[in-house]
Amino acid sequence: MEIPFSEAYRIKMVEPIHKSTREQREQWIKQAHYNLFSLKSSQVFIDVLTDSGTGAMSDRQWSGMMLGDESYAGASSFQNLKDAVEKICTFPLVIPTHQGRAAENVLYSATLKEGDIVPGNSHFDTTKGHIEFRKAVAVDCTIDAASNTELELPFKGEMDLNKLEDCFKKYPKEQIPMCVLTVTNNTAGGQPVSMKNVRETSELCHKYGIPLQIDGARFAENAYFIKMREEGYADKSIKEIVREMLSYADIMTMSSKKDAVVNMGGFLAMRDEELYHKCSMYAVMNEGFLTYGGMNGRDMNALAIGLDENTEFDMLDTRIRQVAYLGSKLDEYGVPYQRPAGGHAIFLDAKKILTHVPKEQFIAQTLGIELYLEAGIRGVEIGSILADRDPKTGENRYPKLELLRLAIPRRTYTNNHMDVIAAACKNVYDRRESITRGYVITRELPVLRHFTVELEPAK
Ligand SMILES: *Cc1c(COP(=O)(O)O)cnc(C)c1O
Repeated sequence: MEIPFSEAYRIKMVEPIHKSTREQREQWIKQAHYNLFSLKSSQVFIDVLTDSGTGAMSDRQWSGMMLGDESYAGASSFQNLKDAVEKICTFPLVIPTHQGRAAENVLYSATLKEGDIVPGNSHFDTTKGHIEFRKAVAVDCTIDAASNTELELPFKGEMDLNKLEDCFKKYPKEQIPMCVLTVTNNTAGGQPVSMKNVRETSELCHKYGIPLQIDGARFAENAYFIKMREEGYADKSIKEIVREMLSYADIMTMSSKKDAVVNMGGFLAMRDEELYHKCSMYAVMNEGFLTYGGMNGRDMNALAIGLDENTEFDMLDTRIRQVAYLGSKLDEYGVPYQRPAGGHAIFLDAKKILTHVPKEQFIAQTLGIELYLEAGIRGVEIGSILADRDPKTGENRYPKLELLRLAIPRRTYTNNHMDVIAAACKNVYDRRESITRGYVITRELPVLRHFTVELEPAK
């Protein structure tokens, strides 16, 4: 018989997680004011809130921690990171930062001014936050197909080149400091971007004299999808694909908590010396000296090793197959989600599941609470609580999609855990007709309300 697939690693250290009863969870979620962010991790059995900084490091990464050089300036750990970024990501200049949004902060402090335009394919929320904070405008140029959850496309996270060119034609080049291409497209459901689209986006940017920034939080997962789905790449290694993909960009911002599989860290990389010098000032001011920038030496070592390991096929294959495995279980049970399964997460389509809960009572949040009550699983709402109020009218915004994201940490859970998640989803789905009431807000902050919002069951 054919030898089945299995993980490309074995386990050397384990961490106990805690089961609980439904009665306990009812108590805990009430005490947390029905906000999943307010639960203690010990009250959660399987935590799929995020895949950011929640992965398991390898033995090689842990050994790198012990060899960290904590010198203030010129540490060998920085050199290791610099070498890895140059070799794997093709960028000769790198500034370490404490995480991805810090890289955005340094870059945009040096380049953006009020009224600027930054087009992209669904900017990630911190990216958009840093753009809008500077009174610049993030223009979304994602392909329309990305918002149709049932459409199966191999590269559903792509840039719409017509929308992008319209933007380039509408505004003078001086007003567009860069264009951001996010790979994979997190906001659109962890959907990848093809090499053709990366190349053509780069060509279009350069035709108009605009630098291309890649937001590379999940660059390795994107390279995996290119290898598996795009003609001409099946026989290329992930590292070859990564090099080609990133060679089209002028700037890279990186949240190392994702595809470099470390618990904390990030970097800003570029080719242009002048830009590097501009950014250096903000890096020194906000992050730290240029050879550590908000990171420990040991963490830079682990990051350098993570970049190397996680651009190997077997690691990515294990990870992405696990997400797809969860998707296939949900298919079996008929539970609707954003198709096809993304690289890092499954996005349950809450509107199609809880059809009796009115949108004013937060459909995706209600689904998140039900899933927690069912089996102690913590996902995250990507719906109208996250969408927040309209800054002008103060009214709640109701986005087209109400999604519950189940983000799978790297190398952390087994497929048995995926079975538990899928079964819990099925149970909630099977009793969906009986779920008719959602929640109402009792307290909220004026910005980023989802982290701290308090709710109670609707009457
Ligand atoms: C997580 C993420 C960021 C921000 O990184 P942090 O490390 O969380 O600050 C930026 N872009 C994308 C696509 C991300 O997924």
